[in-house]
Parts: sequence; structure tokens; C-alpha cells
Amino acid sequence: RSLSRADHPLETPPHSQPNLHPRRLPIHPEINSVIFSEELIQARVAELGRLIGQDYQRSDLLVLGVLKGAFMFTTDLVRHIYPYPASMEVDFFKASSYGAGTTSSGVVQLDSSFKKEGVRDKHVLLVEDIIDTGHTLSRLVALMEEAGAASVRVAALLDKKARRRIPFQADYTGFECPDEFIVGYGIDYAEKYRNLPYIGSVKEEFIKHD
Ligand code: 5GP
Repeated sequence: RSLSRADHPLETPPHSQPNLHPRRLPIHPEINSVIFSEELIQARVAELGRLIGQDYQRSDLLVLGVLKGAFMFTTDLVRHIYPYPASMEVDFFKASSYGAGTTSSGVVQLDSSFKKEGVRDKHVLLVEDIIDTGHTLSRLVALMEEAGAASVRVAALLDKKARRRIPFQADYTGFECPDEFIVGYGIDYAEKYRNLPYIGSVKEEFIKHD
């Protein structure tokens, strides 16, 4: 059944009345516990934006979000980058890493929409969701350098320091993350839970073991 207007008789709020008490949704029924709340994430993302803004005041900045996991972090982060850089572009590219089982191997493939020419001579800020083994990001940084970027830095929302296989340090890190499988705020399990505004773990009964 298609949704008609009558199913959602919501009034558009007038501009003069900011919504001071945004409606909070219940926690998703398949989420076990919230590890980083929406409020905590938003506060930290705002801080990261200020740190990044201070560092790029006189630069032409190219923010490159790594899809799909960093889509939400990227769109929130760019709103807080202040002072404004001399100029700022925002783009995304899709990277897939392949590996055995649950860890990535360092073989990273960029999708064909990534154009090297778009990076040449730019100050690139890579925005990623999680640093785990370190393979993906160290490869992505190398690829940007090969593409002729003027500089490359990395903003990562979460850092799983305990799981590092090769040394890698982000320039801007949101939070240290416990060694748990997490979802939410752009990060998926089997393409689910990306929409959640917080980060948490999935209840055991919703994880497929084969
Ligand atoms: P690595 O640093 O091992 O090369 O890979 C980092 C990538 O592993 C992240 O971008 C993310 O896609 C994936 N990853 C690591 N830990 C988790 C996790 O707890 N949950 C999800 N959904 N993905 C993870």
C-alpha cells in the first residue's frame, strides 16, 4: 500500500520555532547495548571539526569520505569544520577490502568512480569509520600519495588499537573503541543498522554464525 499524505498528517514546523526537544527514538530492538551515545558522538564530532578547522585555515581542503561506513560521520564532521579552510570540497569514494574471515588483508579496491586527477595537488583529509588492523587506511593513504595529493591526513571515528597488525596512527581520532563488533552511525552488519544515530553492539541472537 502506498503512503498517502493522509497517513502522515504532520505539520511542517514554522521557522520561527526551533525544535528544542527533538524526538528521541527508542533503542533498536536488535541492539544489545549502546557503547557511544548520539550525544557523545555529536559532541566529539564537533570538537574534531574545530581541530581540523584550525589546522587547515589557509588550505584548499578536499574531504574524502570512505563509503559506505563513514557516510554519516563525514556528513556530520564537515558541518563543524571551522575556522573555514580557504576552500573546502567534499567527496566520497567506495573502498572494499578483501581478506579471509573477519579481518582485512590489505588488498583494497577502489571503485571506478575514484579519479586520481581529482586528488592531485589537493590537501586530502580521508574520513573513515574504524581503524582495526590498519591495513585499509595505510593502503588508502599510499594510494592518495600515489595520486599526487599535496598532503594526506586521516580522521577516524573509532580506533581499535588492540587489534592493530601494522602500525597506523590517525591524525584525528574520535574514540578508542573496545575490541567488540559494533554497528550504527553509518556502520553496518550485513547492511543493517547504518541508520542508527548511536553506536552499539548487536544482540547475539541476531548474529549469524556459520
Ligand atoms: P582494517 O583497519 O582492519 O583494514 O579495517 C577497518 C575496517 O574494518 C573498517 O573500515 C570496517 O569496515 C571494518 N570493521 C572493523 N571493526 C568493525 C566492527 O566492529 N564493525 C563493523 N561493522 N566493521 C568493522
